[in-house]
Amino acid sequence: MTAEIVSVGTELLLGQTVDTNAAELGRKLAALGIVHRRRQTVGDNLERAAEAIREALFRADTVFTIGGLGPTQDDLTRDAIALALGVSLVHDPEIEAHLRAMFERRRIPWTDSQTRQAQRPEGSQPVANPNGTAPGLICERDGKRVIALPGPPNEFGPMVEGPVGGYLAALTGGMALHSRVVRVCGMGESMVERTIRDLVDGENPTVAPYAKLGEVHLRVSTMASDGDTAASVLDPVVATIRERLGNHVYGFDDQPLESAVIGLLRDRKQTLAVAESVTGGGLGGRLTSVEGSSAAFVGGVIAYQAQIKEQLLGVSRELLDAHGTVSEACAVAMAEGAHERFATDFALGITGNAGPTVDAAGTRVGTVFIALASFEGTQVVEHEFTGQRGAVRSKASQSALTMLWFALNR
Ligand code: ATP
Ligand code: MG
Repeated sequence: MTAEIVSVGTELLLGQTVDTNAAELGRKLAALGIVHRRRQTVGDNLERAAEAIREALFRADTVFTIGGLGPTQDDLTRDAIALALGVSLVHDPEIEAHLRAMFERRRIPWTDSQTRQAQRPEGSQPVANPNGTAPGLICERDGKRVIALPGPPNEFGPMVEGPVGGYLAALTGGMALHSRVVRVCGMGESMVERTIRDLVDGENPTVAPYAKLGEVHLRVSTMASDGDTAASVLDPVVATIRERLGNHVYGFDDQPLESAVIGLLRDRKQTLAVAESVTGGGLGGRLTSVEGSSAAFVGGVIAYQAQIKEQLLGVSRELLDAHGTVSEACAVAMAEGAHERFATDFALGITGNAGPTVDAAGTRVGTVFIALASFEGTQVVEHEFTGQRGAVRSKASQSALTMLWFALNR
């Protein structure tokens, strides 16, 4: 089954509203294994909306419209569907009776414009909208269908998850897309792809790499009628990926890197502290976002100014004078200071220049030093990150977590 979406609304074209509904529907279609081929956005204009629907219906079996089902003059999706299908609009007394009762309960006076919402293309069936007034519509014709959904997200979401989702599941015969995500750190996208090229070329399951900030996610998917059948296809391939990528695989599905790191520390009853300059608490923020992190994460210092590095972490004035704050020596001293003062198994020290300009000492934007202190000694890495301030800071936190992940997996 193939599908297309037509979003209707001038506010979408103007960028005043972001089309979150279409994104949500896209995820739903993917989960149902319905091939979603194309998306259009048109303004509140009858001819253009009708043309978009007609074109979409020519290519796909199922066309969804989003928005324009309300009572006002610019709500013309019903008319556009009727025009596209070449049928007339009929008045549905049942919908009107339902709406009138709803208005009476809420003590809202009935206006004539509301009767627009009781119209539907001939041969269509309404879909109940418990969170609003305008019903959705399913218009079947010649083995194809147009499904009209309301624009307000609080009406749209429940309709897609509820009755429309059920209708679609029945059409696809209970098949659904089952996926597992293998999460990989410390290896670039092209290297990952090269290592598993044969799997990426495979058809069932499909393996699709997605580059994320400082990591790569591999989505392994198959269409199946139930979880066990899906697992029998997915599990062997996930195992092969794991074997090939080794320690680079840090987790699965929704588990972020900070959670994998905290999990390992907890298993080994080990502890961690951080000394953050350039990331300004971003690393501690990620670590403490993990439930139960207090069992492993002890705390840290946001040592932003040089004097704090000196006073709270014991970085010596001589070292700062000789090497500057953005230096290998400073990162090492920060990590070692935190390691000692927090009495932990591990401590990370991060210092760098996130920009936007070269700093007083002439350090380039994106230069970041990350040190990891443990009882086995201290290692330090220099990075040259690209991107703006936010990206440099995020990449610094990510690299620090990656460094610790590999140290824990040695
Ligand atoms: P109403 O009965 O409220 O008029 P409607 O079905 O006619 O509903 P629209 O008038 O197109 O829908 O949009 C109503 C509101 O829903 C808009 O103000 C907008 O904020 C939101 N909206 C519309 N389309 C989308 C979309 N595709 N994604 C997210 N929000 C949307
Ligand atoms: Mg409207």
